[in-house]
Amino acid sequence: MVNGQSCWPADSRELVVENPATGECVGVVPEVGKDTVGEAVKSSARAFNAWKKLPPGERASFLKTISRKMLEEIDVLARLVCEEVGKPINAAYSEVKSSADLLDYFAGEALRIGGELPCENSSHELVMVTREPVGVVAAITPFNYPLSTLACKLGSALAAGCTVVAKPDEHTPISTVVLAKLALEAGLPDGVFNVVTGWGERTGNYLVENRGVKLVTFTGSISTGQSILRKSAKYVRKVVLELGGNCPAIVCKGSPWKKNIRDIVKQSFKNSGQYCYRVNRIYVESDIYEEFLGSFTEEANRLRLGLPQDKSTDLGPLNNVRIMKHVESHIKDAIGKGAKLESGGERVTETPFDSGLYFPPTILTDVTQKMLVMREETFGPVVGIMSVSSCEDAVKHASEGDSGLASYLFVPDVSTGMQIARCMESGSVWINTIHQAYFNVPFGGFKQSGLGREKSSYGIEEFLELKTTYVSLGK
Ligand code: NAD
Repeated sequence: MVNGQSCWPADSRELVVENPATGECVGVVPEVGKDTVGEAVKSSARAFNAWKKLPPGERASFLKTISRKMLEEIDVLARLVCEEVGKPINAAYSEVKSSADLLDYFAGEALRIGGELPCENSSHELVMVTREPVGVVAAITPFNYPLSTLACKLGSALAAGCTVVAKPDEHTPISTVVLAKLALEAGLPDGVFNVVTGWGERTGNYLVENRGVKLVTFTGSISTGQSILRKSAKYVRKVVLELGGNCPAIVCKGSPWKKNIRDIVKQSFKNSGQYCYRVNRIYVESDIYEEFLGSFTEEANRLRLGLPQDKSTDLGPLNNVRIMKHVESHIKDAIGKGAKLESGGERVTETPFDSGLYFPPTILTDVTQKMLVMREETFGPVVGIMSVSSCEDAVKHASEGDSGLASYLFVPDVSTGMQIARCMESGSVWINTIHQAYFNVPFGGFKQSGLGREKSSYGIEEFLELKTTYVSLGK
């Protein structure tokens, strides 16, 4: 979808999108080449000149209309997300709803972008600090939440006055293309929101290598984020990175963990574990370890692996073979180093799970910090649970490694929670609760989990440049 046209460009080849639940074809999109990517960036640059000058209220009104259209088309979008991601249908509906709500939220933020008049430096001068949009934004998104990761980027970029070229993941591009069509129907001017589809190493790379892109906002793996950062250095351009998690949970004795056990389990296996904020590893004080493990395993075994279109399914298939192999390699590594398998551990292949991408909730114990499941993000339904002698030990282990997205603390009192929270190098900390992050607070990571923030007014700030203007008032 470039400049309002969804044609088949001459430089493209076919990209077949498969349903991970069945292996069937969901649709075919073009894998576009360098010329089309260049045309998309040029079209967004042309559109930028008019878009940035629109009063924020008008930009907000477009965002509200797109949001409304998403809700009108929620059945179509949810079915697409279900089919291309393999996401259980209820969760697919939630994703569409929350993405539409995010666009609506950013419509409100558009009206709150302001400037400042700093203290006077001279009585003959007025000094103004204003915010201006950076220009054309490349928005590169992953497969696990194709619409909500896009809505974070699109909503804040359009609110700020930027135009966007989106590059969805090669496994899940169709929902993004449909959203771009809805945006056109909402009256969004041509070129304000373009989409280029294709593999990351080709289409994504052409986009990152394009000089016309003034900011890359990326959600995905740490290694791709590093590559985007390196390539962006050439243009000294802004980069926002939302990268991998490997989030720890700490469970101390005397904490209200029993009240939260369902949510801890849900957060461990949400989206079949393909979720950056998921609980990857759990450190439990030894006094309550056996009881915690028993409850956790019991709850995890209640989760239902099933076909994504079935409303009672908790875990659908993994999205693709690469993710499956990654999950299996982490389990093999752990067992090879002495871990014990408490539950799950092998892909399920009997009918109706013939696609070979179904993996049950998996719990590993007797784990050490040397194992990949504890050191790196698994990005699948696998959790390592370790018994530790004290809360201090738990904090020490939880803080190891290069990730810093989220930490979950279950502690006896708020003051202990606040003390531990201050030690955790992570972008978000939950104390004695777990729920979805709110729109009006920043979202992002410390350390290698990312650069910059999304959501909230802080997220919009990434798409703006500050300008200082000195105005003479005469003598
Ligand atoms: P990935 O990095 O392989 O792919 C993500 C996107 O980048 C895709 O669109 C892909 O086509 C594109 N891409 C790949 N190589 C590229 C290149 N050389 N140049 C330009 N674009 C390229 O990510 P993945 O492993 O499929 O996604 C899962 C990762 O995403 C996990 O690590 C997960 O934690 C992370 N994630 C983070 C957040 C967050 O908010 N922090 C949210 C969701 C997912």
